[in-house]
Amino acid sequence: MTDIRLIKLTKSYGASRAVDNVELHIRDGEFFSLLGPSGCGKSTTLRMIAGFVDPSDGRIWLGEDDVTQRPPEQRNIGIVFQNYAIFPHMDVAANVAFGLRMRKVAKAEIGRKVEAVLAQVGLTGYGERYARQLSGGEQQRVALARVLVTQPRILLLDEPLSALDKNMREEMKFWIKDLQRSLGITTVYVTHDQDEALTMSDRIGVMQRSRLVQVGTPEDIYERPETLFVTSFIGHSNLIDVEIATVSERRCRVRFGGTEFEARAGEGVEVQRGAKLVVRPENVLIDGQALPPGVVPFPAKILSETYQGPIVRYRLAVGGAEIVAERQNQIHQPRFAPGASVLAGWDPGRCEALAV
Ligand code: ADP
Repeated sequence: MTDIRLIKLTKSYGASRAVDNVELHIRDGEFFSLLGPSGCGKSTTLRMIAGFVDPSDGRIWLGEDDVTQRPPEQRNIGIVFQNYAIFPHMDVAANVAFGLRMRKVAKAEIGRKVEAVLAQVGLTGYGERYARQLSGGEQQRVALARVLVTQPRILLLDEPLSALDKNMREEMKFWIKDLQRSLGITTVYVTHDQDEALTMSDRIGVMQRSRLVQVGTPEDIYERPETLFVTSFIGHSNLIDVEIATVSERRCRVRFGGTEFEARAGEGVEVQRGAKLVVRPENVLIDGQALPPGVVPFPAKILSETYQGPIVRYRLAVGGAEIVAERQNQIHQPRFAPGASVLAGWDPGRCEALAV
């Protein structure tokens, strides 16, 4: 097993930087996702780890080895791309055996290893099928089997689910995560899909315009985004204009709707500077009579109610702002009609002021 260290990793194309000074330590056995919008530098980072793209600057360590100058075939990595890239003229067994044949492994051993890895990816009995006889999800399992059979030190996955339909993506998401956990292989997963990253990762690195802007657990990234970019890229948020009354360490007091309350303070939040209060819709509490202790209650008016199956979504007018609340559609939750007067608020631990 192997950890990965990226030290000041940079790739320039002419005057523009595809990857800018990325510092990152991916731990041994970790499932790490690089998440960000298209063009932010995720694939280029992955391809530098694989050895397909030469860095302009910086170093790459796999375990105890500085591999920066090594060609891809001497790095012992496994990589799977979005377009399965399995050979159409070979059956599944031959596809999986390909890497072993290139390494001149003995025939009997190849047979054993192919069987074992096909069992691992849930494709026992599929050895004689061809790509055209497989679903997209099965083809992606073959692509994985093909790299796993060579026992790579690390696994690199570049948007491996984006060519699949929605249901297959859902299923494969959990399947890949389970497989990775059972193998304990250090894995770097590139995606622009926040849902995949949140579901599968031990930690996520969010990239924006060639830079790594936040690294943390899915919970850190979702609950404690450090910038407005991360906030808006991951899920939906209410962004409420507020004034900062005081700041101390990572806490602040915020003025809004004629009152003052506590919030977490993001990087760069200062008194006198503009700030947005970030509150996730599921953290907005609404009640006809009272809110839990510690939650500042604001008088609010329901503007609209939208039934969405498992959740009910409300738009509310609160203290001069318009915000969205989402509630689980459960039997004990009262529903509110447009025009109703209610109390709305949020827990001080579930809101964060971020500098604008
Ligand atoms: P992502 O994977 O996040 O979509 P990429 O790493 O593919 O982003 O690309 C990052 C930036 O680098 C983009 O602006 C892209 O156009 C640019 N880029 C990538 N590869 C090349 C290349 N071979 N030549 C020039 N520019 C490139």
